[in-house]
Amino acid sequence: MSVEDFDVVVAGGGPGGSTVATLVAMQGHRVLLLEKEVFPRYQIGESLLPATVHGVCRMLGVADELAGAGFPIKRGGTFRWGARPEPWTFHFGISAKMAGSTSHAYQVERARFDEILLNNAKSKGVVVREGCSVHDVVEDGERVTGAKYTDPDGNEREVSARFVIDASGNKSRLYSKVGGSRNYSEFFRSLALFGYFEGGKRLPEPVSGNILSVAFDNGWYWVIP
Ligand SMILES: Cc1cc2nc3c(=O)[nH]c(=O)nc-3n(C[C@H](O)[C@H](O)[C@H](O)COP(=O)(O)OP(=O)(O)OC[C@H]3O[C@@H](n4cnc5c(N)ncnc54)[C@H](O)[C@@H]3O)c2cc1C
Repeated sequence: MSVEDFDVVVAGGGPGGSTVATLVAMQGHRVLLLEKEVFPRYQIGESLLPATVHGVCRMLGVADELAGAGFPIKRGGTFRWGARPEPWTFHFGISAKMAGSTSHAYQVERARFDEILLNNAKSKGVVVREGCSVHDVVEDGERVTGAKYTDPDGNEREVSARFVIDASGNKSRLYSKVGGSRNYSEFFRSLALFGYFEGGKRLPEPVSGNILSVAFDNGWYWVIP
């Protein structure tokens, strides 16, 4: 089997993987990103923060495309939380550091958002291969020196790299290949349920794009418009 060589191999093309791959490629390094799915693909996690939109996405060179994508604008958060039953709202713009044109974020459809970031990675020189599942790492002594993956035709492939980055997300168990384990918090013991609803009412303008967080006796929920 021939072994390709890159400076960096990234497993996973979600926001974490495409961001690190793009930033490293923008420094002139040869980067291969291996993504198990073929985009666009579903993912949970739609509500962004201003630092992501106006900081990270600006550094990636994708902020203008994001602004033109038509995602709902999120200006802050509205809460029914604490001692008082009346809802209260904070605006990102209350901070002097985020006032003006950077005082908002977006509620994104992750399938579209993640695809924008992955396409941007390609345009910045990252070699992106979709439908490629990383199933093991290559080791030399204590150092990881590459990755093994299955390509879309079912062929086993191997690639070597100075650095291998695991950005394969919370469902992946790739970390176990280097002896990693997952430790759950004994303190929180939280369980998250999520679903999608049609026809839900939005908050009134100008906060219609806000998240709404509501506490009740046994927990809390939040709604993303
Ligand atoms: C109920 C819930 C609500 C959430 N709400 C929000 C929110 O409102 N805002 C927010 O910012 N975050 C939210 N999150 C968190 C958010 O989903 C994650 O933080 C985010 O998706 C992590 O991005 P990532 O790139 O690290 O991983 P992922 O988005 O999980 O991407 C990992 C990628 O790796 C690929 N992959 C997996 N295994 C392999 C493999 N073996 N080889 C190659 N590729 C592989 C996957 O196909 C995927 O594309 C929420 C999470 C949950 C559970």
